[in-house]
Amino acid sequence: AFKAVVIEKGEDGQRVGLTTFDEADLMEGDVTVRVTHSSLNYKDGLAITGKLPVVRRFPMIPGIDFAGVVEQSSHPGWKPGDAVVLNGWGTGETHLGAYAQKSRVKGDWLVALPANFTPHQAMAIGTAGYTAMLSVLALEHHGLASERGPVLVTGAAGGVGSVAIALLAASGWQVIASTGRPAEAEYLRGLGAAEIIDRAELSKPAKPLARERWAAAIDTVGGATLANVLSMTRHGGAVAACGNAGGMDLPASVAPFILRGIALLGIDSVMTPLPLRREAWNRLARDLDPGKLAAMTTTIGLEDVIAKAPEILSGQTRGRVVVAIQ
Ligand code: NAP
Repeated sequence: AFKAVVIEKGEDGQRVGLTTFDEADLMEGDVTVRVTHSSLNYKDGLAITGKLPVVRRFPMIPGIDFAGVVEQSSHPGWKPGDAVVLNGWGTGETHLGAYAQKSRVKGDWLVALPANFTPHQAMAIGTAGYTAMLSVLALEHHGLASERGPVLVTGAAGGVGSVAIALLAASGWQVIASTGRPAEAEYLRGLGAAEIIDRAELSKPAKPLARERWAAAIDTVGGATLANVLSMTRHGGAVAACGNAGGMDLPASVAPFILRGIALLGIDSVMTPLPLRREAWNRLARDLDPGKLAAMTTTIGLEDVIAKAPEILSGQTRGRVVVAIQ
């Protein structure tokens, strides 16, 4: 048996606790990993609090990402002792997840830990940071680069937002950071933001088109914010939409698409195929300043994660939270 956070469903709703879990009850998979680090992502907050039904199987061990060391493997690509990283694929939702000392998964889901990251750094990046990288890659694959004008990042002081700012600044972009926390202006400038705007500017009902302000954007908020972001994107620009921290709806018009040729690029980190995952991790290894990563990271223990979960949903966590497992 090993230590794990477990969510159980009863008549009266769900119960979450730090308990022990039997290895025999782990789900099917060809690789067993000794998990050393995980992280707290927005979706983990949803799972632990039960605010949205992201957990599809009970009992569930939440936790959508981990770094660890292979303990047993019948997969040709992995052998005991290999350092690995996992993001998504339904772990913490449909497959027993990362807030546990052990996890059994499909070897096809794993990526090798990049040589220049420690497991702690890999989870400081975690799913939020890897999604920020996927969003930057989506803008680049669309043909956008810093010469085209400024880039906006919404939910700037959150996990995806913080990593996105550091990555975009490293690629020469002039970054505009939208936040509801003016007290974090210095933090955001430290990550590379050139300008800070109040997120209230972007949360009013959107007009079909408004003054063109940025060439590109990474949006973690959704809802009216995404509608406003689209309406203010310059002709030929693109918006990578990866989040719903402000809502699942999109009260927008088609005007930005048909009158300004703007593209809305959807980002799903969960089912991203392996080649793009490897590209994202390689670029993170190349571009992400370790000093900035350290500045955006706090570390908690497995015993703290249940209490911390509601804080990420209410936008109180800054940057990234690593969960040290062992
Ligand atoms: P996070 O750390 O909580 O960051 C979210 C940020 O959004 C908050 O820090 C806050 O930033 C802002 N925010 C929160 N509530 C808001 C509201 N009601 N209105 C406007 N802004 C609000 O969470 P995260 O882990 O970075 O995840 C961010 C979003 O990306 C989540 O929706 C998550 O589900 C999504 N996500 C998607 C994928 C994918 O595969 N598509 C992967 C990872 C994450 P300020 O305080 O700076 O305003």
